[in-house]
Formats: sequence, C-alpha cells, structure tokens
Amino acid sequence: MSFQSNFRKDTPFSNFIHCPRCGSTCLCQHDERAIRCTACNFVLYFNCATATAALIIFQGKLLLGVRGREPQKGMLDFPGGFVEFDETAENALAREVREELNIEISAPVYLASFPNNYRYADILYKTTDLFFICHVDDICSIKAMDDVADYLLLAPEEVDLERLAFASGRNALQWFLKLSNPGCA
Ligand SMILES: [Zn+2]
Repeated sequence: MSFQSNFRKDTPFSNFIHCPRCGSTCLCQHDERAIRCTACNFVLYFNCATATAALIIFQGKLLLGVRGREPQKGMLDFPGGFVEFDETAENALAREVREELNIEISAPVYLASFPNNYRYADILYKTTDLFFICHVDDICSIKAMDDVADYLLLAPEEVDLERLAFASGRNALQWFLKLSNPGCA
C-alpha cells in the first residue's frame, strides 16, 4: 500500500503523510508553515532552522570550502552549518569551522542574515543563515574534512557568484562587498 502526500511539492512538508502524533493520514494545511491533523487536531509547525556561516579572512582573502556532499556537491560554500540544540550561533560557527577545516576562528563579528532553502534527502528545510566575518591568524593546520572536499583562498571580489552553492551565500557576499566598497553599486 502506498500513500500520497496531500501537500505541494515545494513545501517543507511535501513528503509528510502520517500525523506524527496519532499516525492517521488526515493531514491538511493549517497555514503557510504548519500542517494539522483533522483526526486528533495536532498542529505541527515547521520553523526556520538556524544555520551559521563564516566569511573567513586570511591575508586579505576569503576562505571558501568546496562542498563534498549533496546538496550542491562541488559548489563553493562558506564554512558553517546548523546550530545544534542549546548551542549559541557563535559556538556553532566555531565548531563547524573546526569540523570542516580544522582551524580556529577568532572574534567573529555578525554581518547579516539571509533566508535560504536547503534541500536534503528530498526534504526542503527553510533556514535562517547567520553570516559572521571572522579572522584566522594562521591556517597551518587546515585540511578539508567532514562535508568539505577542498578549500580555496580567493580575493572577495574575484569570487564568482554563480559558483556559490546557495542564494543566502550569494546575498551575504554581495552585502559584504557593498560594505567593503561603499562607493560601488
Ligand atoms: Zn493526528
């Protein structure tokens, strides 16, 4: 027996069939970001997930990772990742950079946030990506690990926006360039 989801394909709940509380298939849309079970009245909200990303400056260049896994395998991305339960964004940022590149960032400064769509294993996650400007004193220990296949050092204005994996990263880089060169459009 197979079930069909009641929801549009481009939503975070498009693959949901059963109520997570009572198991019925009587799910309907409650509002833009929630579904409701008409059997037990449970409402499940899909909140934005918080993620962090680092614009790491080393000797005037930006340190970017090459994604080693889907989604967007092979594309450039800022080091970072999802904030875990009971973790600060700053700690998540330092932990993710350590896990992905084996380096320690110092004094992260908040830049801006941008929304993003992150599709993983056929589920759409709506995220709020927090971008921080960070510096590193040295990258002697650097190595690509975890979901990062490689890394690049590029002058910020030389980064090809089309090679960046996600819309939030493209927006963050454009915002960073605008702040760095206020005279330019
Ligand atoms: Zn239910």
